[in-house]
Amino acid sequence: TAPSYLVGLVGAGVGPSLTPPLHEREAAATGRRLIYRTIDIAELDLPPESVADLVPAARRLGFNGLNITHPCKQLVLPVLDGLTSDAAAIGAVNTVVFDGGSAIGHNTDGSGFARSLERGLPHAPRERVVLLGAGGAGAAVAHALLESGVRTLVVADLDTGRAAELAERVGRRFRDARCEPAGADDPERLLAGADGLVHATPVGMAHHPGTPVPRELLRPPLWVADVVYRPLRTELLDDAESRGCATLDGGAMAVFQAADAFQLFTGTPPDRERMLAHFHDL
Ligand code: NAD
Repeated sequence: TAPSYLVGLVGAGVGPSLTPPLHEREAAATGRRLIYRTIDIAELDLPPESVADLVPAARRLGFNGLNITHPCKQLVLPVLDGLTSDAAAIGAVNTVVFDGGSAIGHNTDGSGFARSLERGLPHAPRERVVLLGAGGAGAAVAHALLESGVRTLVVADLDTGRAAELAERVGRRFRDARCEPAGADDPERLLAGADGLVHATPVGMAHHPGTPVPRELLRPPLWVADVVYRPLRTELLDDAESRGCATLDGGAMAVFQAADAFQLFTGTPPDRERMLAHFHDL
């Protein structure tokens, strides 16, 4: 019989996530049986710290692995037996693989973003890139950007302490690059001389409408990538596109983080383009 897998997603408000059908459809397409369950701590009325109980419980119940999302990506660290070097450097885990007796933490948000950038904006100049948002997604993206050859990364956040901390952390890992912290109150200065802008704050989501950068500051050759994927077309991307900038939405990052997790859970490389097509069907 075909191999079978049991995996899940732990986080708050994960009910509507598209990750479960993405995994299940890709498994079916490759002749595997995979069941993907959501474990919604908000619905279960559990605190974020309960991830420390849920991970060992899932292992005992025979799960092959878990995806971990907001607000548990850092809280899960203490209950893991090991981390990949990326997950350790990013300081957050979105994928846990149960392998033999141990639970190993990975971060596929960073690898998913890197792949999405490579696919969507392969020739984008990367001399100076501004990252807006130094939270969980921002941390994964910062490492991916430096890994992909960005020479100067400006890390900006409303919370300047957070920007400084992330810039310091990635600067220590990528010693050949320049990592500069910045505030977010002067977008004109922030974008002066930048080749690209990567947006990693919640602005542009349904419950955070708006755009973080005035439209008139967006002009070619600046390229603009958004990690927000609900909606896929944010006001920022609409503005950038209407001004003639090359753009990249957050959809492929969301799909490719799932694709990389699928490979870790099943040991089989997925068809990433098929997963992307599934995502656009869903
Ligand atoms: P977070 O709360 O960890 O971090 C958000 C950061 O943005 C905070 O540091 C906050 O201070 C900062 N911020 C908020 N408004 C700002 C503004 N106007 N200007 C500058 N900084 C501002 O959130 P997160 O988990 O990093 O998620 C951010 C977004 O990324 C969400 O929309 C999430 O859905 C998306 N995301 C997408 C993917 C994907 O696969 N495409 C993966 C993870 C997260």
